[in-house]
Amino acid sequence: MLIDLQSLLEGGCERVSLDESFDFSAQALDGVFPFTTPVRVRGDIVNRAGIVTMHAAAEGTMRFVCDRCAATAERQLCVPMEHILVSELQSEDDADRYILVSDGKLDLSQLTLEDVFLSLPSKLLCSEDCKGICPQCGKNLNEGPCGCKKEIDPRLAPFLDFLNS
Ligand SMILES: [Zn+2]
Ligand SMILES: [Zn+2]
Repeated sequence: MLIDLQSLLEGGCERVSLDESFDFSAQALDGVFPFTTPVRVRGDIVNRAGIVTMHAAAEGTMRFVCDRCAATAERQLCVPMEHILVSELQSEDDADRYILVSDGKLDLSQLTLEDVFLSLPSKLLCSEDCKGICPQCGKNLNEGPCGCKKEIDPRLAPFLDFLNS
């Protein structure tokens, strides 16, 4: 979705308010479709003395597969979207620092998706103390212990043999 910022960039107006909802239900992440409900972006973009800044936040719910136990879980999103917008880039480095608004149009849905994905930790866990799955039988240990014997440290084996004899 394109937001027309021509007037703002030229100084014709000082503020553009944002309140948009995006349907990202067709976006896949690691084989799941995380966005079952729309992601809402609220905030504004202001031009102060020629510097155009965006202060907004994206909110929604996302579904994901836990990295440790492979169960499906949900988390609330509240992703800050703080950017400086420019109509042209002066150098290569600027591309990392600023958001380029070419032709006076900002692709807000694309920017939202990027910000949301960049905000995610490298590992998504269903809970901080997720116990994961048993490497031997594959049982989800959050649902209770499995019947597998714990692997014995080989250095302790002679000692245990002694105790059992
Ligand atoms: Zn988990
Ligand atoms: Zn097991």
